[in-house]
Amino acid sequence: MTTIVGVIGGGQLARMMIPAAVNLGIDLRVLAESEGMAAGLAAAGVGDYRDADTVLAFAETVDVITFDHEHVPQEILRALVNRGVRVHPGPDALLYAQDKLLMRQKLTDLGLPVPDWAAVSNSGELAAFLAEHDGRAVVKTPRGGYDGKGVRVVSGEHDVDDWFEALAGDDRGSALLVEELVDFRRELAQLVARRPSGEIVAWPLVETVQRGGVCAEVIAPAPGSAGRVADVAADIAMAVAEGIGVTGVLAVELFETTDERLLVNELAMRPHNSGHWSIDGSTTSQFEQHLRAVLDLPLGATGARELWSVMVNVLGGPAEGSMADRYPAAFDAHPTVKVHNYGKDPRPGRKIGHVTAGGDELETVVYEARATAAFFQD
Ligand code: ADP
Repeated sequence: MTTIVGVIGGGQLARMMIPAAVNLGIDLRVLAESEGMAAGLAAAGVGDYRDADTVLAFAETVDVITFDHEHVPQEILRALVNRGVRVHPGPDALLYAQDKLLMRQKLTDLGLPVPDWAAVSNSGELAAFLAEHDGRAVVKTPRGGYDGKGVRVVSGEHDVDDWFEALAGDDRGSALLVEELVDFRRELAQLVARRPSGEIVAWPLVETVQRGGVCAEVIAPAPGSAGRVADVAADIAMAVAEGIGVTGVLAVELFETTDERLLVNELAMRPHNSGHWSIDGSTTSQFEQHLRAVLDLPLGATGARELWSVMVNVLGGPAEGSMADRYPAAFDAHPTVKVHNYGKDPRPGRKIGHVTAGGDELETVVYEARATAAFFQD
């Protein structure tokens, strides 16, 4: 029997599930937001994921539902589950990827390390938090933020008055998340995958480099992280996956503080930018693993194939033409580097592809990856 996996959302994450599905003979169908999306080559249809009838009709054509993003409304997710549809990750888990306040509360309840935080509804409450934290903090909108949008460093109680005003008109919640401005050495990400029956595996801990709130580079494994840090990160991510009941791939974004603690920043319940290196650099890519997990199949080995893998995002793209126009020069100069093109039109700041280099010498691998990515953006 051929199993049909339905993916809601047609971005590059759905697109990169396609080769993994082809290799395993899994029929993958994508409900894309519009024509010409990155995963258009597997699109079963175009439709609005916020429309219950559209999503329920799509679900009838597949055996299991999974996601390219976390934005499908809770009431639609619950309607799917009530109809007996297999949904991975399920609504109870996805809730914590949809709402940063609920996520902070849940992680606190689970006893996991997070930055100091509070829910604030007005400038007076923000002032009180600032007074306790040396006058600086980070305020986040609980819902709808991505790539640093909805994150603001503040030093005055009126710095987010616009957000407080917007809250007044939003019936979904009436508070913002405020947290300490963490003094971190670097950002790390721990990727794990969990099956509905409970098996759970972890990839090597990676370092992520963000520029302007957007992931720019990933180094696998995180330099100098052998031993304790890696063990602590894996323990945290597994505790999150089990504590929240996540199925599929879970990315746990972490801060490594200057005093060598790990704090959880963000959760993503789907394949994640910090795991793109695994396509070329690990025995099992995060995309294949996600499919295995949502189908409750035994999970693949997660070891690295190379001592070092470095992934660099192609952000924005070439000023003229497409990524493919640059293939002759890039491939000629860097034959060992793997290039991934999401088929998206270049636009400032947009993630339109990535490259991954691997090898024994970290400096060389970083150079190879950066130099190759440079061919595709100017
Ligand atoms: P998004 O959901 O938009 O990715 P995040 O919560 O991951 O937002 O924050 C984006 C970036 O902002 C992080 O990668 C980090 O660099 C910075 N940041 C977020 N929270 C804090 C914090 N509490 N202290 C210091 N920097 C932070």
